Amino acid sequence: MNKKVAFYTLGCKLNYSETSSIGRLFTQAGFDTVEFTDTPDVYVINTCSVTDHADKKCRKIVKEALKISPGAFVTIVGCYAQLKPKEIAEIPGVDMVLGAAEKFQLVDYITDLTKNPRAVIYNQPVSEANQFVPSFSYGDRTRTFLKVQDGCDYSCTFCTIPLARGSSRSDTIENVVAQAREIAKTEVKEIVLTGVNLGDFGIRNGEREDRFFDLVKALDEVDGIDRIRISSIEPNLLSDEIIEFVAQSKRFVPHFHVPLQSGSDKILGLMRRRYKRELYVSRVAKIKEVMPDCCIGVDVIVGFPGETREDFIDTYNFLNELDISYLHVFTYSERENTPAAEMKGTVPGSTRFERNKMLHTLSEKKRRAFYETQLGKADQVLFERDIKEGFMHGFTRNYVKVKAKYDPVLVNEIRQVNLTAISHDGDVEITESEEILVH
Ligand code: SF4
Repeated sequence: MNKKVAFYTLGCKLNYSETSSIGRLFTQAGFDTVEFTDTPDVYVINTCSVTDHADKKCRKIVKEALKISPGAFVTIVGCYAQLKPKEIAEIPGVDMVLGAAEKFQLVDYITDLTKNPRAVIYNQPVSEANQFVPSFSYGDRTRTFLKVQDGCDYSCTFCTIPLARGSSRSDTIENVVAQAREIAKTEVKEIVLTGVNLGDFGIRNGEREDRFFDLVKALDEVDGIDRIRISSIEPNLLSDEIIEFVAQSKRFVPHFHVPLQSGSDKILGLMRRRYKRELYVSRVAKIKEVMPDCCIGVDVIVGFPGETREDFIDTYNFLNELDISYLHVFTYSERENTPAAEMKGTVPGSTRFERNKMLHTLSEKKRRAFYETQLGKADQVLFERDIKEGFMHGFTRNYVKVKAKYDPVLVNEIRQVNLTAISHDGDVEITESEEILVH
């Protein structure tokens, strides 16, 4: 009987795509992938350094895993494993810790599944993580997260990602297109292009060889993919040509997620972000000029050191006036070995919490206002696999979340619908259009 492996992923889309790729390596090595609760022989926990209390979470997952399958071999990979391997190795029950350069060789490192009295660490300096390892998630979601870029050469003062994932590097356009063609042969309808600093795509061996825009143009030619979504792009890298291209593309959907982080130029400077807020205003204006129905999501951090009440109000008002659709709000938390952790003007925890709450409420208001602009319009919805209280959900091209009565036939199908009303839980109700798009 085949050995069984189960995965647990914390953090971002990149981690999800990488977990899937590691999963495929296990499959090739003769393992069966099972649920977390299905008494596996091996657990792989893919960690994140951005998640708050990463250590506590990791500890808890290991504990739960060993309750379910006491003899299981436990391996920890991911950003947190790169940054704090020794700390992780101390967690009772962990057998192996792999860094950024080693994680894709996990299967080779597992030679036998006898539990180790002490965890073994394979962790080279992050400068060794200079190979690009392609990944995409498949079989676990309606969409595929296709990783095209890894690492980051920016030096935002709050961020540990360059320390955990190394410098910016990318796949070739040719390889990405080949992977997209493979994905096109499957039932997957949507690709989400993923990277740490996606707009910086095109660096190989430290040299710029391509630009993100060239990748976008090449992918637009791949038949058989209904939708391509750009997961997140830095405002200074979101050029007019990308925006204009997406506006006329059949595959790239009208949805951008653009990190802002703060609406105060003073804080942006302290964060060492590569733009001022006026640039952000111009990006939103350009998007809306050519795609009035485009969904725009914003990342923002509250409670950064030195953020006074006035700075926060500045951010709040800035976002309130901006034509955006939702926020992802992060509460600043100190990370070791980052310049921000040493900065003066620490914001008390309770204030950080309050600010987060205020922006969260603003986000709900923005989302609702955006949804309201979409009522009475028609769009295509890709239905997901989830069922909740007899309902299923899906997303329009411009990321409006819709709900419909569960119908197994609709799962992973694209349908033309009319957006009719906002339901009590905030999702949009629909009626199906006459014109039905089935693939
Ligand atoms: S752009 Fe800044 S926040 Fe984003 S990964 Fe790079 S250093 Fe971190």
